[in-house]
Amino acid sequence: MNRTVKGICKKAAGIALASLVAAGAFAQEIAGTPTGKGTPKYVFVFIGDGMSYPQIQSSAYFIGKDAAGIVDEVKNSSNPSDSPVGGLLSFMKFPVAGSAQTYDATSFAPDSASTATSIFTGKKTHSSSINVDISKKIKYRTIAEQLRDQKKWKIGVLSTVNLNHATPAATYAHQASRKSNYPIGLELVASNFDYFAGGALMEPEDKKGDKESIYSLAQKAGYKVCFTQKEASSLKNGDKAIVVSETLADADAMNYENDRADGEWSLRDYVKKGIEVLDNKNGFFMMVEGGKIDWACHANDARSTIADTLALSEAVKEAVDFYNKHPKETLILVTADHETGGLTIGFAGTDYNLFFNTLKAQKISYAKFDSDYVASYKKNKTSFDDVMKDVTELFGLKVPGSAGKDKNGGLVLTEYEYGRIRDAYNKTMSGTKTSGQMEYELYGTYEPLTVTITHVLNNKSGIGFTSYSHTGLPVPVFALGAGQYEFEGYYDNTDIYKKLAALTSVKQD
Ligand SMILES: [Zn+2]
Repeated sequence: MNRTVKGICKKAAGIALASLVAAGAFAQEIAGTPTGKGTPKYVFVFIGDGMSYPQIQSSAYFIGKDAAGIVDEVKNSSNPSDSPVGGLLSFMKFPVAGSAQTYDATSFAPDSASTATSIFTGKKTHSSSINVDISKKIKYRTIAEQLRDQKKWKIGVLSTVNLNHATPAATYAHQASRKSNYPIGLELVASNFDYFAGGALMEPEDKKGDKESIYSLAQKAGYKVCFTQKEASSLKNGDKAIVVSETLADADAMNYENDRADGEWSLRDYVKKGIEVLDNKNGFFMMVEGGKIDWACHANDARSTIADTLALSEAVKEAVDFYNKHPKETLILVTADHETGGLTIGFAGTDYNLFFNTLKAQKISYAKFDSDYVASYKKNKTSFDDVMKDVTELFGLKVPGSAGKDKNGGLVLTEYEYGRIRDAYNKTMSGTKTSGQMEYELYGTYEPLTVTITHVLNNKSGIGFTSYSHTGLPVPVFALGAGQYEFEGYYDNTDIYKKLAALTSVKQD
């Protein structure tokens, strides 16, 4: 952590620097001036699933100064430009930022399977297909496979979601459908990649549970399969390993960052271990996915999206550390596959005002609230008044008429907002399926109570979502290191592969 402080912002020495660093207000320092010279033999590709400009910028504002604080500070400052509103994510300090379009062969609002195919193979395909052409017959080889075979690089694949989920699968699998979990698992083992880490495999024994476990097949193929942090800690340079998070959450993914317990490994810890395992003289390629940025956006849970975006930003710092030691041989990209949720910054109900501090009142992800609270409300027929006590505790929202209207937007519900939550509570308690256009727009396919709580909290913060699915927004491509300037401009996601292949001189095969 001290490295972060060194040499930055001398005039801030008088203020509580340590606490600002702890809050992530400063980005990892990049040593020297990145020239972009050199040839990469260590390549990191970070993918925030569903992480376009709105997710990144709202995370920066979230760790920046609160709106009321800014107004006071600017009023009292002789030079308001000294008072930046936003905080900085680690990759916002990268010298290059380009933009990539994300459409696929069949959709302007594509999915992770087709977009990751484009990023890793330079080809467009159908939504939900992984590394096959639109006839679903021709298989495309990925940059990771090419680097493994042509350059003898080691390969690492990390994700906060399942290791056979679409984005990680797109580094090693070739399947007409992303839902072929077991066949994708078989391809994971066959890839002979060196380090996998993150959430558990989906259907490791196939749909009926009647096939040999992917984990046991991996062990037979020479992988160390670790299910505890203790086992993961003992991995050494040169090991071939599959590391599954000791603590699994919804759908056997890693926990959301805002549910993560003290001492539980974060994505950054898995990246750090991965660098230790993969480092070798030929080179390595590491793909790191923040997969739950997308999941939280599907559920319209802004607070959890922001927490996971910040966790990805933290993980990038490990790569920056590595870059600092090998600046002419390291390339780091931070990008996304597509946007999710149609998140935007600005909401009709708060006019020009934004209150990111309001979101800080949320202490739990939508998924954990569903599993740990809503399930028992239904079972015990908990009264609305009692539910509201938990809502106040976990999301900060207070019943109308409560004392203490907060300075920043306020967490006291209006009668209208309270009514929205009560209607959703009634819908949840009824146990009936959502149906019809109105209910879909209100709740999507989510638990009506939970999604309405996050909607109200988002809206009180001045932000909102337009969708429970993906959108057609372009995504940023941040670049640091050898070859960084290739990533300037506005291009197609297939160009990411083409640029990487050219920089690492792999041939398309
Ligand atoms: Zn998605």
